[in-house]
Amino acid sequence: MNTISVIGSGTMGNGIAHVFAQYGYHVCLIDVNQAALDKALVTISKNLDRQVTKGTLTEYDKQDTLSRIQSFNSLKEGVKNADLVIEAATENLGVKLDLFRQLDELCPKNTILATNTSSISITKIGSVTKRPDKVIGMHFMNPVPVMKLVEVIKGYATSKETTQLVMEISSNLEKTPVEVNDYPGFVANRILMPMINEAIYTLFEGVAGIAEIDTVMKLGMAHPMGPLQLADFIGLDVCLSILKVLHDGFGNPKYAPCPLLVNMVEAGFKGVKTGEGFYVYTPGSKDLKVSARFK
Ligand code: NAD
Repeated sequence: MNTISVIGSGTMGNGIAHVFAQYGYHVCLIDVNQAALDKALVTISKNLDRQVTKGTLTEYDKQDTLSRIQSFNSLKEGVKNADLVIEAATENLGVKLDLFRQLDELCPKNTILATNTSSISITKIGSVTKRPDKVIGMHFMNPVPVMKLVEVIKGYATSKETTQLVMEISSNLEKTPVEVNDYPGFVANRILMPMINEAIYTLFEGVAGIAEIDTVMKLGMAHPMGPLQLADFIGLDVCLSILKVLHDGFGNPKYAPCPLLVNMVEAGFKGVKTGEGFYVYTPGSKDLKVSARFK
């Protein structure tokens, strides 16, 4: 495998492109939004700078990595030589089904079509293609250059060969792949999202404030960051979409998204990406300030 096409250059797409390019793959980074592509290239360069400052990468390696990333607005141009496609576009079933129908037409016959979806059924995505055996989940964690896990999700029709290739390529990136089956939320989000939702309910019901809830979970459970800060970091819209998939998929009221989360997303307060969620984020500042709306 040489050429990897990454679709979507947002929070996850830029990290996935960064890691593949750093490990020697040629990367085609595709987005419908030119501003998102421009922002992704700046982010990748800044994150590589951080590695150079830490001494884990040389300046030469940084330039070499950047030279392997090409950006595209056109899906057709961006995937025509792909050995592996990793779709990291918006977490929306319609967007993903539409993309996979097109990918099946546009990509060479042997191209493996992976999705970084957090929760949407791989089996359903595979079913809109004529190659469901080559459709698989490749769920990277945020931030991709730092986090070691890749959750590899086998759809009902995914072949053993596809799974083996994706396990191998994940190991080539010095990640630890873990094979799981295709049920709503897979493993990571089936366990994580109910915890985040419960933290939001705890705030909503006035049991404790934002800083208090996060401190209990950080110091009491040795979590590196509290669940409300983590929700901001993931994106509150992404958390809401995943909870809806769990709720619909299992039909169990325990997954019903907290009304406060629904309100925040509807009002456009989506966390780090919009500058405010449970906390307020000021560019260049590392201080964590609770949003004044909760005081
Ligand atoms: P994001 O909103 O930051 O970025 C999505 C990007 O996709 C945007 O730049 C958008 O312009 C682009 N896009 C939308 N439709 C497109 C199309 N048809 N063609 C090309 N580009 C298109 O989203 P994100 O947080 O990076 O999430 C991407 C995927 O990764 C989702 O499936 C999400 O569930 C999953 N994921 C997210 C996280 C996280 O922490 N945010 C973690 C793991 C997995």
